[in-house]
Amino acid sequence: MSIKDNLKKLKSELPPHVTLVAVSKTKPHEAVMEAYECGQRDFGENYVQELTEKYDALPKDIRWHFIGHLQSNKVKFIAPFVYLIHGVDSLKLLQEINKQGEKNKRIIPCLLQLYIAREETKFGLSFEECEALLHSDLFKNLTSIQIKGFMAMASNTDNQTQVEREFLSLKTFANKISSENFPIEILSFGMSGDYSLAIRCGSTLVRIGSSIFGERRYT
Ligand SMILES: *Cc1c(COP(=O)(O)O)cnc(C)c1O
Repeated sequence: MSIKDNLKKLKSELPPHVTLVAVSKTKPHEAVMEAYECGQRDFGENYVQELTEKYDALPKDIRWHFIGHLQSNKVKFIAPFVYLIHGVDSLKLLQEINKQGEKNKRIIPCLLQLYIAREETKFGLSFEECEALLHSDLFKNLTSIQIKGFMAMASNTDNQTQVEREFLSLKTFANKISSENFPIEILSFGMSGDYSLAIRCGSTLVRIGSSIFGERRYT
């Protein structure tokens, strides 16, 4: 199936309140343009250099989502234009994003990444760490960032019951935080393999790569 057909099929499955971010990492500009020409405007990238190259070359009305693990020393390269930073997992990183937001005279929208998986390798804050961060004075002083919600990745397993449990733990946590006067607008979870389940569990934004662009080849 073509990118166009894949997108059409996906769009027909997603409820209107769910945003589709097309994950174009490792894919050429032509692939992004093919999706763009079907009306897709939200794209996700994992690597700073790849993102800045695509930003320079491609239409300026694309909303670029940074979904990878962001290093503090690279924030400056994406701060002028990034639409949403998904993977913020420390106060230190948030402070750097805030600093770059000030420099660029903009408020940078961010999602805090939460650790919900059983694996050791995934990045993210625990629920306790996240709450402590949101209630800290240092956080309250950051005026050039805005926390829009949370991002998470479930365990990489075929066990749907476990994935569901992990997704629901995030949804429950988000409800709790919302009730504490931190409005949570965006819950970013669900990828090609688990987006239907993610949406049933309360996701409002799915990040989908291979189901749109085909398998990735890393060289
Ligand atoms: C690559 C990636 C995706 C997309 O994964 P697919 O399985 O290809 O849909 C989503 N989120 C993050 C954080 C990724 O790194």
